[in-house]
Amino acid sequence: MKTPSSPTAAPPPLIELQGVVKTYGQGQASMQALRGIDLRIERGDFVAVMGPSGSGKSTCMNILGCLDTPTSGCYLFEGVEVGALPRNRRALLRRHYLGFVFQGFNLLNRTSALENVELPLVYRGMPAQQRHARAMRALETVGLGGWAGHTPSELSGGQQQRVAIARAIVTDPKVLLADEPTGNLDSARGIEIMELLTALNRDKGITIVMVTHEPDMADFASRTIRFRDGLAQSNGRNV
Ligand code: ADP
Repeated sequence: MKTPSSPTAAPPPLIELQGVVKTYGQGQASMQALRGIDLRIERGDFVAVMGPSGSGKSTCMNILGCLDTPTSGCYLFEGVEVGALPRNRRALLRRHYLGFVFQGFNLLNRTSALENVELPLVYRGMPAQQRHARAMRALETVGLGGWAGHTPSELSGGQQQRVAIARAIVTDPKVLLADEPTGNLDSARGIEIMELLTALNRDKGITIVMVTHEPDMADFASRTIRFRDGLAQSNGRNV
């Protein structure tokens, strides 16, 4: 008889939300930002998250990023219930398995591209030489090997977002959570960033969950999850 722990059992999905509800406030002033989200994200998926403002996208991304916990329902990461983990284990999950990319790049302005990319490794206590080598490799992966000594103000918006992506992948995360990564870029630069994310997904197998308002950018993903009034629906495969 197969049991869940038998070696032949299929591994659990990378990410699973089961009936996730998030309520803000209490009593009459309370509001449900998420009203029961069920979704599965498999290893190697590239998911676009779309939906009108206020539909619950950020709330859901905060839960996926271990910045917030559901009011009820379950968030399972590789079959482990994240809400049941103590805070320090959740922080470890965040630091070791997740990478984050934001609309506004969020780089340290007076610090070189290389040092920006090294930062997550500093938090891990990695020795300097090893850190430099890893950060250089990440910069090369995003096509900025020659720009390591430059500060963000010496780089274009597209290049700054590449540095931010290098910083997000320098820890070899399983999942990249991207919040409107092309929102501050013109469409040509936006497409370059999407091509880079597509390559990371295809060549490094990094699972990507990306919020976007732009259908052209969502087309790069293999499927779209649409939020509406705190509920989510997946359209299956785009391709
Ligand atoms: P989206 O990212 O799709 O714009 P959000 O997840 O930010 O949507 O918001 C969903 C709903 O939850 C909105 O009605 C918003 O006003 C509300 N909301 C979000 N964060 C908070 C909060 N910290 N306190 C109270 N209400 C919030």
